[in-house]
Amino acid sequence: MAETESRYEPVIGLEVHVQLNTASKIFCSCTTRFGAPPNTQTCPVCLGLPGALPVLNRAVVDKAIRAALGLNCTVRETSIFARKNYFYPDLPKGYQISQYDRPLAEHGHLELEMEGAAAQRIGITRLHVEEDAGKSMHEGFPDSLHRSYVDLNRAGVPLIEIVSEPDLRSPAEAHEYLTRLKEIMLYLDVSDCNMEEGSLRCDANVSLRPRGQTAFGAKVEIKNLNSFRFLQRALEHEIERQAQVLDSGGRVLQETRLYNSAEGVTRGMRSKEEAHDYRYFPEPDLPPLRVSAAWRAEIERHLPELPKARRERLVAQYGLTPYDAAVLTAQPALAAYFERAAAGAANAKGIANWVLGDLSAWLNAHGAAVEKAPVPPEQIAALVGLIDGGVLSSKMAKDVFARMAAAGEGAEAAVAALGLRQIGDAGAIEAIIAGVLEAHPKQREQYQAGKTALLGFFVGQVMKASQGQANPGMVNDLLRKALEAK
Ligand code: ADP
Ligand code: ZN
Ligand code: MG
Repeated sequence: MAETESRYEPVIGLEVHVQLNTASKIFCSCTTRFGAPPNTQTCPVCLGLPGALPVLNRAVVDKAIRAALGLNCTVRETSIFARKNYFYPDLPKGYQISQYDRPLAEHGHLELEMEGAAAQRIGITRLHVEEDAGKSMHEGFPDSLHRSYVDLNRAGVPLIEIVSEPDLRSPAEAHEYLTRLKEIMLYLDVSDCNMEEGSLRCDANVSLRPRGQTAFGAKVEIKNLNSFRFLQRALEHEIERQAQVLDSGGRVLQETRLYNSAEGVTRGMRSKEEAHDYRYFPEPDLPPLRVSAAWRAEIERHLPELPKARRERLVAQYGLTPYDAAVLTAQPALAAYFERAAAGAANAKGIANWVLGDLSAWLNAHGAAVEKAPVPPEQIAALVGLIDGGVLSSKMAKDVFARMAAAGEGAEAAVAALGLRQIGDAGAIEAIIAGVLEAHPKQREQYQAGKTALLGFFVGQVMKASQGQANPGMVNDLLRKALEAK
């Protein structure tokens, strides 16, 4: 890999399909719910029955415009639906209604935020609206060896396709691009971006060129990349493969290849010569789509704060590290939780540590979303307040948190229930220290003779004698003083 990188520069462009989370389909009123029994969410329109006419769902256009604006695209005043003709069993009409030479939006960009690299803009060529096809089912039936079935519930579910410029230069950048894209779609609430359920799908185009050359090489399109990991692995493998072809004096064939995740390889599917001729033409059953300046402005007014802006604000407003801000904003609900807890609190950084530490660990262990957090944000703030006020040591606070999560108690109530309260009174700690020193005269002598590593031993003894409740910082200071006073 390292060697390949020095000889050839990879050039990558992604084509991403995002399923919009509207309640009904793009051209009929069938529901879009995932996972219903096959062929129960269909009607003459999405079944493509003769004479049935499509009617555009306005909510689809709303969401598509939102996505386009979130990706800094220019929205066309007039875009055109087109028929993309091909034959496949899951496409009852024999064509897909899509957009072709006049897509909804163009000329956008998003920014990569790779660690240790300067911010980098990746161009977005176009964003267009289209309908999904049905699903062929090749497995899971008693007669699956002999036949396949078709489920048309997905036919007519709204999609946007987002095509990037060939601006990406490594599999890691491609991974980062898709990460940022998904995050923006989630913030805009236009899709659930669930890759396992197919609401986020990605094809990757990749070519190599000798370093220093400006002209692009022949590209290969890789399909069937249904996870972020597979996207990166497939690209890594394909880059190696193309490098070997070029090294051995061959030419990379422009073709479509399929990624086999089990074997980690790509295999030829169809070459350029066999490429589809989709015979695109304007859809006669739908008028041109007009997006007035007022409509666009209305959507723009309601755009939420996007992830990058939010990250920058969290750093500026709460003094978080860019890393903590990135982890919080990766889930809009987690960032919202943090902000609710930090509102009016003195120690936002401490709150972030608890949200990213014990709270996130609890959520992971219980497979729970932050919306189901067992502790309300104000109570995390209260817990951090008790630590900062010296009432709890951070070790005690862990037990208190566990109790809050398990029993649904507030911070104060959990502290009371556990009888935990840090001893922060110097006199009380000094009394305990005196007892411990008296009980261990030999260790005391050794300490005073220079074996200062015994401090840990004494700290342990004092903590034990105080049943873990003495303030550890004070124990350290007071012990040192007591030991050094001969
Ligand atoms: P096609 O005509 O095969 O659909 P497009 O020009 O529409 O190709 O581009 C499809 C995708 O491939 C885009 O994401 C684009 O950035 C990318 N792409 C185009 N040319 C190259 C290339 N030489 N190497 C890598 N990616 C490319
Ligand atoms: Zn329908
Ligand atoms: Mg194309």
